[in-house]
Amino acid sequence: MVKEKTFNPTKSRIRAIRLGPLVNLAVACRLCEDPACVAACPRDALTQEENTGIIMVDDDKCNGCGWCIEACDYGAIMLHPETKVVYVCDTCKELGKPQCVEWCPEEALDFVTADVLAQKARRTAVKKLFHEAVEKASE
Ligand code: SF4
Ligand code: SF4
Repeated sequence: MVKEKTFNPTKSRIRAIRLGPLVNLAVACRLCEDPACVAACPRDALTQEENTGIIMVDDDKCNGCGWCIEACDYGAIMLHPETKVVYVCDTCKELGKPQCVEWCPEEALDFVTADVLAQKARRTAVKKLFHEAVEKASE
């Protein structure tokens, strides 16, 4: 909505995928370290910002061939239904933070670096082990 100035899920840069009745997954660009989309583009239309990892699309170079779409394992880069050039999440960099995270009414989205994500996973694993140990001790 922020980027396209319209409420239209087909133009969204983040996609919700239903994995099961209770599980949804939000998919957006993962700002890959070695982005397959950039490598796949035959027209040098994609570049990656060095400090942020954001993928930039040169609309004048992109001819919508779709090679980058095929190369992305996450389905994160898409062909715009009207402009017919690709578009991808840029974390709303002009606004300073991702607006999907700001606006989600359920606070279901988080924007984290790989380091923070790993830290969270470690914390969850330690908590699980701790609870298992407590449960065993009380048997
Ligand atoms: S569009 Fe896909 S391949 Fe390119 S950086 Fe984002 S997640 Fe990685
Ligand atoms: S769709 Fe555009 S950005 Fe993607 S590979 Fe083709 S020319 Fe490059």
